Amino acid sequence: MTLNPGMSFAINRCVRSTSPEGKGLAIGNPNPEPNSTLRRRPPLTCPSALCLLLSSFCYWCLAASVVQAFTAADAFAEAQITYHLRLARPSTHILEVEIDAGKVDQPSLDFVLPAWAPGRYAIYDFAKNVQEFNAHGAQGEALPWSQPDKDTWHVETLAAGGEVRVRYRVYANDLTGSFSQFDSTHASITPASIYMYLAGHKPDPVTLVVEPPPDAEHPWQVFSGFTLAADQYTFQAPNYDRMVDMPMEVSSECLIRQFEDHGKTFRVVVHSFGQPNKNEPQLATKLTEGLQKIVASEMAMMPAPDFDHYTFLVHFAPDIAAGDGMEHLNSTEIIIRSELSDDGVREALETAAHEFFHLWNVKRLRPAALGPFDYTREDYSPSLWFAEGLTSYYSYVHLLRCGIWSRQDFLDRLAGEVRDLENDPGRALMSAESSSFHAWFYDRSPQMQETNFANATISYYNKGALLGLLLDLEVRSRTNGQKSLDDVMRWMYQKLYAGPAATYYLPGRGYEEKDVLLALNTVSGSDFSEFFAHYIEGTAELPIAEELAKVGLKLNVTGEAGAAPSVSILYQQTDTGIRITAVRPGGAADRAGLSRDDLLTEVDTLSLVTEQLGTRLKMYPAGAEVPFTVERHARQLRITVKLDPPVADRYAIAEAPSATPAQASLREGWLAKN
Ligand SMILES: [Zn+2]
Ligand SMILES: [Zn+2]
Repeated sequence: MTLNPGMSFAINRCVRSTSPEGKGLAIGNPNPEPNSTLRRRPPLTCPSALCLLLSSFCYWCLAASVVQAFTAADAFAEAQITYHLRLARPSTHILEVEIDAGKVDQPSLDFVLPAWAPGRYAIYDFAKNVQEFNAHGAQGEALPWSQPDKDTWHVETLAAGGEVRVRYRVYANDLTGSFSQFDSTHASITPASIYMYLAGHKPDPVTLVVEPPPDAEHPWQVFSGFTLAADQYTFQAPNYDRMVDMPMEVSSECLIRQFEDHGKTFRVVVHSFGQPNKNEPQLATKLTEGLQKIVASEMAMMPAPDFDHYTFLVHFAPDIAAGDGMEHLNSTEIIIRSELSDDGVREALETAAHEFFHLWNVKRLRPAALGPFDYTREDYSPSLWFAEGLTSYYSYVHLLRCGIWSRQDFLDRLAGEVRDLENDPGRALMSAESSSFHAWFYDRSPQMQETNFANATISYYNKGALLGLLLDLEVRSRTNGQKSLDDVMRWMYQKLYAGPAATYYLPGRGYEEKDVLLALNTVSGSDFSEFFAHYIEGTAELPIAEELAKVGLKLNVTGEAGAAPSVSILYQQTDTGIRITAVRPGGAADRAGLSRDDLLTEVDTLSLVTEQLGTRLKMYPAGAEVPFTVERHARQLRITVKLDPPVADRYAIAEAPSATPAQASLREGWLAKN
C-alpha cells in the first residue's frame, strides 16, 4: 500500500517497542496456516476446465500442484465451494453473500470473516457489518449455528446431507483499499471484507458468481485481475487466499484503456466521481500513457512476473476523506482524493509506481509472515521497512528512469524524506524493524486512546525509503558501480520466489531479515552485518551526507530567511488559540513545562486567535524569554518560554563541486534514465 500523501504520519504512529532496538521481540509467524487443520484427501489434479479458463494465469496452475504437495495429510475432504455476490439494491449499501459448500463430510463447519485484509496492517473486524446470517442443509432445513467469537459462525452440519448453504448480508459504504462500497454508481469490492472462509478449507478451489443489479439502466461489468471477457460474471480461483487477492470493480461508468508490455496485457479501469466533463477520456489516456512508461521501466528491471494480465483499478473521488493504494497479485486499487484532472493523474502515477513494484516486492518476494495468512489475528513482520520502504524508494527510482520525474524531482523527494526523518525524535527510540513490527498500532488503525506516536515512533515507509537509498549507494560504491540494489532485488526474487514452495499459497518461500543480509553480502561480495546492526536493527543516525558524498552529491540544510524562532511543538490552529499536539523532547516548550493539549491563547499580550504563531514570534530573537497565556483544564496559567532558534527545515540535495570523476561516474550510473 502507499501512505496517503494527504495524511500526516505523525498522528498515526505507534508507541515504542519494549526494546528500542527491536530485538528480543516475537517476530514472524512460524506457522503460516494456523487455522487450517492438517487434512487428508486424494491428490488434487488441476481441473481441465479451470486450467482452460485460467490458461493465462499460469501461476494459478502452478499453485494447484503446490496444493497437491501440501495437502496430502489433510483430515477433511475437499469441499465444493461457490460464492455468490448479489448486488440487489444499491441504495441500501447492502451486499448479499451466499456460500454454497458441497461434499461436506464433517459434523460442523466454521465460517470465518477475516479481521483484516493483507496489505493493511490493522485489525478492522469486518464482521461488524455482517447481518442476517443463516445456514441451511441439502433439503433446505435450517441448520443450528452459534458464534464462538466475533468473527466466526459455527454451523452444525451433521444433518446437512453434505450440502451447506450460508447466506448473510454485509453493509458496505467505504471506498478504500481495505473496505468495500456498494451504491448506485458501483460496487468496489475488497473481497476479504465480505467473503467468509470455511475453516480448514482455505486451500480448496472456489467459484465466485457475481450478480449485478437486475434493473440497471446500463449493464454493470466486472473488472478485476480475474476478468478475461466483458460479459464474464463467473470466476474460479485455486483457493480462498487467491480469491481475496482480487479486488473487483463492478460498474457501468468506467473508462477502459489497455496496453501491452513484454507480451502481457495491462488494463486500466478509471472511475471518476467528479462532475462528468469532456476531458475525461483524454485524461484517462494520459494516465494510461504514464502507466505504460512506469510498467516498462519496472518490467525492465525485474524478471517478468507470472501473469498474463494486470489490472489497474483507479478511482478519482473528490468527496472522500482520504486516498489509498493497495497492492494485489495481478491488480491494484488506486483511489485518488481529487477530480480526474492533470493533478489527479500526476498523483495516481506516483501511487501506481509504488503499487506496481509491489507485484514483486511483497506480493511474490514476501516477508515470511505474509502468506498464507492468519486472517483472525495480526501477522507480525520486522521487514516492512524492506517491503514498503524499498518499494517507495523504487517508485521514485522508476519515476526518474521512465522520465515522468526530472532528476531534480527525484533528488527533491529524497531530500524531503531526509527532512521527515530528521524532524522525527522517534528515530532515536525506534528501529526500522521495530517500526515494522508495530505497524498494527498505526497503519490506519482507529486510535482509542491518546498516544505519543508523534515523539516515540518512526515510519517504516520513510526510514525504509532512506535505507533503500543508502543500500543502493553502498552496494554501488563497494562494487565500483558494477552492482546495485537492483541486483540484490533480482537475486532475492530468484532465490526466494522462484525457489521450492514452502506452502500451498505461492511458489517459493517468504524471506526473513537474515535473507536480506545474505543477499546484500552475496551480491556485493562484502559484509553488511554492521550496516544492519546500526541502521536496521538499531537506531544509529543514518549516514545520509556520507553516502551522498560517495556519488558526488551534497545535502544542504538551511532555514527560511527571516524565519521565526521556535517553541518546538506540533500544534493545531483552533478558533480559540494554538492547541499543542506534541511537545518535542528537550525543546523550548518542554523545558518551560508546556504540555500536550495546552491551549496557547496569547504571547505576551498579543492574541494567538487573530494572528498565526509564527507571525507573532518573528518579532523576537532566538533565546528571548516570552510569556504565554495558557489554558489547561479550564485554568489559566502564565508560562515563560525561552525560544529555540528557527527550525532549519529546507533540505536540498545538489551536486558537490568537489566530486571526483569516480564519484561523478557512480552518480551518473545511478541516475541514468532508461
Ligand atoms: Zn506499499
Ligand atoms: Zn467505481
